[in-house]
Amino acid sequence: MDFRFTSQQLAFRQEVREWLKKELPPGWAQSGGGEEGGDSEGSFETTRDFRRRMAVKGWLTLAWPKEYGGMGADALTQMVFNEEISYHRAPGPDNGVFMLGSTLILSGSEELKRRFLPAIARHEYTWCQGYSEPEAGSDLASLQTRGVEDGDDFVINGSKIWTSNAHNADMIFMLVRTDPTAQKHRGITFLIADMKSPGITVRPIVNMAGIHSFNQVFFDNVRVPKSNMVGEKNRGWYVATTLLDFERSGIAGFAGARRTLEDLFAFAKENKKDGRPLADDPFVRKSLAERWIEAEAGTLMSYNVASMQAQGKAPNKESSIVKLFGTELRQRIAQTGMDLIGMYGQLGKDSKWAPLNGRLSRMWMSSFSATLAGGTSEIQRGIIATRGLGLPRG
Ligand SMILES: Cc1cc2nc3c(=O)[nH]c(=O)nc-3n(C[C@H](O)[C@H](O)[C@H](O)COP(=O)(O)OP(=O)(O)OC[C@H]3O[C@@H](n4cnc5c(N)ncnc54)[C@H](O)[C@@H]3O)c2cc1C
Repeated sequence: MDFRFTSQQLAFRQEVREWLKKELPPGWAQSGGGEEGGDSEGSFETTRDFRRRMAVKGWLTLAWPKEYGGMGADALTQMVFNEEISYHRAPGPDNGVFMLGSTLILSGSEELKRRFLPAIARHEYTWCQGYSEPEAGSDLASLQTRGVEDGDDFVINGSKIWTSNAHNADMIFMLVRTDPTAQKHRGITFLIADMKSPGITVRPIVNMAGIHSFNQVFFDNVRVPKSNMVGEKNRGWYVATTLLDFERSGIAGFAGARRTLEDLFAFAKENKKDGRPLADDPFVRKSLAERWIEAEAGTLMSYNVASMQAQGKAPNKESSIVKLFGTELRQRIAQTGMDLIGMYGQLGKDSKWAPLNGRLSRMWMSSFSATLAGGTSEIQRGIIATRGLGLPRG
């Protein structure tokens, strides 16, 4: 792999940086408001408007083909953009783009591509993902929400849980069981549904950081047109797992990790313990240096994924490696930061005594869920062991 960026990619990086400096809503870079995306209710509209402004520039879907609303850029240019977004704590392409859109490009019919991709590129809709159920998380293929054919529709009954942003979403992409007699991976169909359909109820779930980010969604005789089916009936599992690879490769955010570490370096230089700068303490130096090395290693792993995508290959175990390493690194950085800041690290952004605008306490609390969302660390290790190392299934 060639690690050098082209002069066009470097110029584009500069253009994005300058645009972000001008356009980022005031305070986001400090508070991390954008990083939380639509998590906090107050920020949803600002986040959506910001994404629409990026969409006008064509940046949400840089690497998509031009006929579907993209710019036809290469995967490495897309990665340069993602790095700048992550470093500046701005909301990047949403799950409509990097999960559903990327999957439709591979597995959608021409009709579905033309119907949805340009609208996704313009960020017309906010999307949510209806995969997990109360009794189906890691073992996703055991899902029980039913889809029964009736004329031109499927009639859906059941419920989905941990559905991020369902309370703001216009549309949902989801998995339903259409053949309960088949082997569990074989009787699943992938559908797109309108969240305003009669029979859908969204019940909020507030997380331990006090943020309403996910929900339980109930389906009571909800009619979804068959024309909204992605792939073939009962073959949705293969569409679903393609989408998971896109989801996992997009989660890591190593540039954001480097930005947090830079904040911690500054904190260690500016603050003292027993009359000496924290940065003089050998334990502080060692742990910060270790986190920086890990962030650099993770950056190279994410370059590997982007480079595979640029060559038209589909990263699978590589996506799991990046997801696993990135989310566990996020936890280690949050812990290192909390150790450094001490008791003040517990203060939220509303306190004038909160160092770094209380970002570390929010990062620490949200870092736990990062190793669950998109498939737990144990599941990623299982994929790496079997598909990466060729070990037998346990
Ligand atoms: C912040 C957040 C956002 C989310 N957003 C969404 C969303 O938008 N849409 C959606 O559909 N889902 C979403 N999820 C759900 C997420 O995908 C599931 O939580 C995850 O897949 C784990 O499923 P579970 O919670 O049912 O845990 P379980 O599957 O019950 O797992 C419990 C524990 O057992 C371990 N375990 C289970 N099976 C194995 C195995 N085979 N080998 C080793 N260990 C195993 C797990 O690693 C875990 O530690 C979100 C979750 C979080 C935390």
